[in-house]
Amino acid sequence: MNSTESKQSRQWRPRTMAVRGGLSRTNFRETSEALFMTSGYVYDSALEAENSFDGTLDRMVYSRFKNPTVAMFEQRLAGIEGAPACRATASGMAAVHAALLCQLRAGDHIVASKALFGSCHWIINELLPRYGVERVFVDGTDLDAWAQALSKPTACVFLETPSNPTLEIIDLAAVCDLAHQAGAKVVVDNVFATPILQSPLKLGADIVVYSATKHMDGQGRCLGGAVLGSQEFCADILGPFLRNTGPALSPFNAWVLLKGLETLDLRIDRHCANAIKVARFLESRPEVARVLYPGLESHPQHALAARQMSGWGNVVAIELKGGKKAAYGLMDGVELIDISNNLGDAKSLITHPWTTTHQRLTPEDKLAMGITEGLVRLSVGLEDADDLMEDIGRALES
Ligand SMILES: *Cc1c(COP(=O)(O)O)cnc(C)c1O
Repeated sequence: MNSTESKQSRQWRPRTMAVRGGLSRTNFRETSEALFMTSGYVYDSALEAENSFDGTLDRMVYSRFKNPTVAMFEQRLAGIEGAPACRATASGMAAVHAALLCQLRAGDHIVASKALFGSCHWIINELLPRYGVERVFVDGTDLDAWAQALSKPTACVFLETPSNPTLEIIDLAAVCDLAHQAGAKVVVDNVFATPILQSPLKLGADIVVYSATKHMDGQGRCLGGAVLGSQEFCADILGPFLRNTGPALSPFNAWVLLKGLETLDLRIDRHCANAIKVARFLESRPEVARVLYPGLESHPQHALAARQMSGWGNVVAIELKGGKKAAYGLMDGVELIDISNNLGDAKSLITHPWTTTHQRLTPEDKLAMGITEGLVRLSVGLEDADDLMEDIGRALES
């Protein structure tokens, strides 16, 4: 064990973990984390190779299984989240797919909130039924609906809070209680909150999934994902699934994300400070029918968000009075803010969920999730909030 690893047993706080967690230096004693671009590893003897495969030797074998840079990212993120274990994946969707498929089998019952990211909805609605998994969607904000759906034995619960793009907030502690009574493992997609603003594991969740593509990279460079949970889940249930199906994170992307984690907390602070200003500004505008942002007193679950989150995030949803025409007018009118379907980037990005991220859903499903043709999703970036408000104000007027 090197000196860095032994120091880590001191249980640093999340901010220290973000900068130093997982750091494992080579003999060159480099300051920054090393990037190991290698697919395989060499053995000094045939016996060493045999022992590496039969598990008598704990060492790197193949980067689909384990890679030193990817392992640093996993340990750092686990340290920030306060999770016993973490496994990285090539994208957020690979994380969601693996977290569900590794534990579900034909005949199982899954209950999910209906306000989900488009591809998460597709996995549960289209893919799982092909393999004999029965799914039920509920209004995530309705605890009676959860209780009803969870009145029979259930293998898994999947939910997203705040949800994409309508910013619905789900009572994590209450849903986890109901889920556990039904025997279910709770998987939370924590992308919008990030580990900085919400800790689902502390509220009772069993598994947390991330798209690291969003705030963890935070600068629009690469895809990545992560699944966090107990040692037992990550090693015995998720581990074999990842090892044999291969959604491995590239070491290069892991390195980018590892460095992203160092500044995540700082960036989230600025994202949140900007977003509340922009949300209040939008709420004051006559062209806007409704602003959905958990930090606004007008948000239907504002009190719940205050209870389970330590900040409100950087995504603001705007319902315009003039429907799709007004939505497109705003998007085409802004000059500083870019039209893009990504989020959590340093650059402010605006998108129209009806025609992009949620295009493939039926109109009925979209409306059931609260997505209308006049809804625009704004990912507030790190620019000066005054420039953002001026840009939006000019676009709304024209
Ligand atoms: C973006 C996103 C995903 C998917 O992540 P990718 O890295 O794009 O695969 C999953 N869930 C939510 C809530 C997201 O915003």
